[in-house]
Amino acid sequence: MGFTKFGLSDHIIKGIGAAGYTVPTPIQSLAIAPAVAGKDVIACAQTGTGKTAAFVLPILHHLAPGNGTPAGGKIPRALVLTPTRELCQQVQLSAVKYGKFLSLRSVSIYGGAGMDQQVKALRRGTDIVVATPGRLLDHMQRRTVDLSGIRILVLDEADRMLDMGFINDVKKIIAAIPSKRQTMLFSATISPDIKSLASNILHDPQTVQVGERRNPAETIVQHFYSAPQGSKIDLLVHALEAERMQSVLVFSRTKHGADKISRRLERTGIASAAIHSNRTQSQREKALEGFKEGKFRVLVATDIAARGIDVSGISHVVNYDIPQYPEDYIHRIGRTGRAGASGDAITFVAREELQYLTRIEKFVGKRYVVNAYPGFTAAPHQEHAAAHDSSTHRSGRPAPRNDQRHTGPGRNAPHQENRHTQSGRTAPRNDKRNPQSGRVAPRNDRRQTQPGRKKEEHKKMDSYSSDSSSAGWSNY
Ligand code: AMP
Repeated sequence: MGFTKFGLSDHIIKGIGAAGYTVPTPIQSLAIAPAVAGKDVIACAQTGTGKTAAFVLPILHHLAPGNGTPAGGKIPRALVLTPTRELCQQVQLSAVKYGKFLSLRSVSIYGGAGMDQQVKALRRGTDIVVATPGRLLDHMQRRTVDLSGIRILVLDEADRMLDMGFINDVKKIIAAIPSKRQTMLFSATISPDIKSLASNILHDPQTVQVGERRNPAETIVQHFYSAPQGSKIDLLVHALEAERMQSVLVFSRTKHGADKISRRLERTGIASAAIHSNRTQSQREKALEGFKEGKFRVLVATDIAARGIDVSGISHVVNYDIPQYPEDYIHRIGRTGRAGASGDAITFVAREELQYLTRIEKFVGKRYVVNAYPGFTAAPHQEHAAAHDSSTHRSGRPAPRNDQRHTGPGRNAPHQENRHTQSGRTAPRNDKRNPQSGRVAPRNDRRQTQPGRKKEEHKKMDSYSSDSSSAGWSNY
């Protein structure tokens, strides 16, 4: 029955068809019906699950002429709050895509872009506003947006908004919109903070959950390689060439690091761009567009900037720096292997990063084996700092039997011999995971909410990143 079972109008069904969707994803199956019925909804869903359509389609349904939500004239009737600019743009584009056969208008409002254009767009009139909280507050303070007609509110990636310190902004915005409205809250995790927020702003909500994603998609092959921090760049260049990687998303912990990696790749003749919150909006857009078009083989991103990157055909994700939080690992590697495609996730592990690997293992309930990258030898001065001997399983225990195949730099078989072909790509053969369904640790490693609101959104991102580096393991 596909999407017809939700009672969506023919125009919306046509829009979904034009987007190429035939079967609703699990979160869509669960969330669309109550949302179309006008209920408040709490949806626990990660990015990549189709959550955007799960709230955009009901919004379009309610706002379509004759469906009960009075026409707003020039003022918006639906508001979607998102944590990042990229996600903001992406959600607005989804509204355009799914609403192709409706005459509803939408605008995206986010920091880092000129106010004037946004003011003009708001003045022209819109049905849907998709906004990041900081910039929307700026508009509210300047009285360039009128939210008195809002009938539907969506908080997208609510957990991330709290993590980024937007809670006060979000509360101020909610206090300024009509209380008689439908509210939907989408979040990858339902923490006590989220529950408390939800209890204040939602009314008798229906909670839907597609299972918190702890397991990376099975189509993603995960590889872990030991790499002293100082040799990571050489290893990256080596791996890019050795595996002939074509569309690669590299994650750096810091903005400075992202720039440095990208510059170094460029010097090596590998077309690359960096995307992070210190780059201007147009630089970010150029980087993303260039990556989508294949102009850049590599896009180097920080976690925050990577939110909302929805690029199909990413063949490899490289965790140049292992993420501090396991949820970020799942998010990062989920950028490849999307919609059933296969992909490789490669993580470089320096000795001082082993603790974060342990966290990931506890989170997903598996143990991973860290190998030496076949055919790569760290420069001599860095070798003594190697994360660990490749034949050593972490925590000092000897490698299990099936890890005996791990060979250290210089001792491994020739590179190509160690590979198997996967969907036309090559991957090191000795990376077969060593899954042991272990106990899953309690989720006590959630990121703490950032203190206090900073003026501009990109500054919030700064504080987020600098917080990470203040953990003392940035080597840049
Ligand atoms: P999201 O989680 O909303 O970021 O969506 C992740 C990806 O799934 C996007 O590329 C969507 O275009 C795609 N998508 C969403 N819903 C469907 C569907 N029902 N069928 C196929 N692809 C979908």
